[in-house]
This record gives sequence, structure tokens and C-alpha cells, in this order.
Amino acid sequence: MVRVRFAPSPTGFLHVGGARTALFNHLFARHFNGTFVLRIEDTDIARSERIFEEKLMDSLRWLKIQWDEGPDIGGPFGPYRQSERLHIYREYAEKLVKENKAYRVYAYPEEIEQLRKELLSKNLPPHYTREMFDRFATRERIREYEEKGLEPAIYFSMPRKTIVHNDLIKGQVVFTEGSVGDFALLRSNGMPTYNFACVVDDMLMKITHVIRGDDHLPNTVKQLAIYEAFGVEPPQIGHVSMILGPDGKKLSKRHGATSVEEFRARGYLPEAVVNYLALLGWSPPDAQEIMSMEEMIEKFSIDRVSKNPAIFDPGKLRWMNGYYIRKADARRIVELLIPYIELRGWSCTSKEWLENVFLCVRDRMHTLEEFTDLADFFFVRPEVTLQADEAIRGGLLECATRLEQAVELTKEGLVNVFREVIKGLKLNAKEFYMSLRKALTGKSEGPELIDIVTLLGPTETVARIKKALG
Ligand code: GLU
Repeated sequence: MVRVRFAPSPTGFLHVGGARTALFNHLFARHFNGTFVLRIEDTDIARSERIFEEKLMDSLRWLKIQWDEGPDIGGPFGPYRQSERLHIYREYAEKLVKENKAYRVYAYPEEIEQLRKELLSKNLPPHYTREMFDRFATRERIREYEEKGLEPAIYFSMPRKTIVHNDLIKGQVVFTEGSVGDFALLRSNGMPTYNFACVVDDMLMKITHVIRGDDHLPNTVKQLAIYEAFGVEPPQIGHVSMILGPDGKKLSKRHGATSVEEFRARGYLPEAVVNYLALLGWSPPDAQEIMSMEEMIEKFSIDRVSKNPAIFDPGKLRWMNGYYIRKADARRIVELLIPYIELRGWSCTSKEWLENVFLCVRDRMHTLEEFTDLADFFFVRPEVTLQADEAIRGGLLECATRLEQAVELTKEGLVNVFREVIKGLKLNAKEFYMSLRKALTGKSEGPELIDIVTLLGPTETVARIKKALG
């Protein structure tokens, strides 16, 4: 039975890298009919905030990445928030102390820092050993800790041997002997370190596969050693390569939007974001690019996840979003457009009208946010001073008069009005249409004129022509 987890720290919004990790885990779990666990790693009390946990879950739900066990829904291996599991980490750390695989450290943080500096000044790597800490564990110091109610930190005796890791994605990685020194499992404030809490939880939550970012590859050696100390077989672990910006540098704010929340606010559709994220470091065997979640689940396999960094191309995501906007049910999109319209303080006649306006500009939209710039003239009368010769002005006026008189006008009827005016007054058709467009929209390009006139209605069309003629 496959059990995977996504284990974010609630210290910020869900960014592209985290979302991709969550997605790969989700696809992997669903592909094997396994279980996807959401675990909140909130032991960094200074940086963790409950609001970010809410935001993370909100972003995941929006992307339709659904977990089977987690802090909000519980599950058989809870609690799923590390801050609620502190007693468990203590119990497991004590177990290792009892077996002499870990030990208590009575040094104050400043003293550990001093030790680190001493090692560095001797050109030695800052690798601690049990012996180094022994000198602090004097009888007086132990009494001092007891009197002050302080807890000693617990450090792990890192075995000094070569550790081989067979990564699901990167292949074999060898950590040579002595590449890591002893390290803390529990700090003196009672908080576990990431490596320790992660192993204890993955072990107790019966995680079978770990898929995470390769920034955690250096931690793996420590985690494997902890599994061994517990006599437990580690899960299979795969590290996904990092995501770079188009300039080849690590993806960051400099490259524009990087959080799921931002993409959502800018009018990206979840199916476009999820589809694009899936292709960051993975491709299906048939190289198909446009895929629904169901198709991705069916096609996903870890052996097609790339060892090489993925390049985040905002242009491609934009293109894909445009594709999904055109493909989506127009009524759904109309609902999503309303907040953008309200933000501008505009109102609209009806949802049906709005849907038709949307259909007019749909082909040129890449994000929902772009709608308001492409369709602004439908909502607000533009300020136009028309530069046109007398003949064209006469033609426009003639059109206005005819529209005023018309009882009912079909699209065909409208086309005929324009044609008759052009013919009757012997106008240059191109120039006439350009001026009409300018008068109605204030722009020199946009949707079909006939659609614009139909959606504005005769009264507004006439008013705009007269206004532009001054
Ligand atoms: N809390 C860690 C992070 O957000 C989890 C790493 C892991 O998956 O082991 O990077």
C-alpha cells in the first residue's frame, strides 16, 4: 500500500516548487490507489503561522490536490501538526539515548557556537562529537540545568561510515564517511529538529515513498542514519530537481509571481496551473502536454521525473492558461470575471450580456485579469476626439440617424445599414469602419465591430457616435 506525504512548513504561501512537490505526491498516490497525507511541519515556532497553514490548504484545495489524512480531517496516524506531537519526539529521542545512540548536551547555545568557531579556525569542518560536548556536562552544570528547569538538548551519534542512498530520481548517491558530524535531535527548548521530526513522523505514519525537493538531499544521510538507529527500513526517497527561472537562476520573486496564491489572483485557472506544474520536471511517455488531472494520474510515473533542473517559463503558463480559458464553460468563467469587474467599479446589464462580452474578447485573453483591459469600452464610454474628414463624419452621422429610426436590428440588418451608408455616400469602407471603431471603443483594434454594436445596443451606439463627433 503506497503512502506518501506533503510536509510543508507554514511559513509563507505555497510557492511553485512546493505546489509541484505536492502535485507529484498526489499523482503518485492516486496512480497507485494509495494514500496522500498532509503533514504540517510547524516546529519553527518563530516563523510558523496558523494563517499560512490555512493559506497552504486553501491553495492545495484550489488546485484540486486533495489529501486523505491531515490536520483538518484527521486520520489514523494523527495528530498531523508537528507542534502537537512534541511528546512523541521526546519519547523517541529518549529511546535513542537509552540505547546510547544519542546523548544529552549541557552546553549553552553560545558555547556551541564558540565550539563551531574553534573548529573552523583550525580549518576543521564543524563536526561535533560526543567528546567535544563532554566537558560541559559537569556536575555543577547539570545541577544548574535542574535548578533553572532547563532541558538538555539531545544529540545524535552520527555513525562515522559511508552511507549509500539509492534515490528514486537521482540514482545512487554516496555520502562518504565523516561528511556529517553529530547533530541535534531535540533542542533545549524541547523542539525537535527537522531531520528528527521528519523521520519519526514518516516512520509512525507508515510513509512508503518520499518525494521532495532536492534541497533536502544533504539531509537524507542524517535521516537514513536515524532510521538505522531505530532499526527501521527507510521509505524509498526521491529528490526532484529544483526549478529555475528563464535566466537559469533559482526561481525567485525577481522572476515575477511565484506563489499559487498570486497566480490565482492574477486570473489563472487551477487546471492550467496544475497542468503546467506537472510538466516541470516530468513528461508523460506520449509527450502530450495538455492533460487533465485524471490523465496525469494515469500517466504519472516516478521514473519519468527528470534529474535535471526544470525551467519555469511564465510565457508558456500564460499560453496554457489562455487555452484553458477558451476551453472552459463560458458560464463558469463569467462567474470568475465578476470580482475583476467589481474591482473596477463597473456594473453590467446581465450575466447573459457579460457572457457575450466575454465571448467577444475570449480569444485574446490569457488571464482573467486581462479581461478588464480588453473589454473596458463595453463598460465605460470612451473619451474620443475623432480625427476624420467631413465625408466620414457625415457617414457616421447618417448611421446614427438610421440606428435611431430602426425598430429592430438583427446582425444582418446592421451590416446592411453600414453597407448602404458607405455605398450611398461613396465612402472609403476601411476608413469608415476604422472611425466607427474608434468612436465606439476609443481603440484602433478589438472585437468584430458588429459584435460591439450589438452588445452596446442602438442607444449607446448612437450616443457614442454623437459624442465622438463632438
Ligand atoms: N518541511 C519540509 C519542507 O517544507 C519538508 C521536507 C520533506 O518533505 O521532508 O521543505
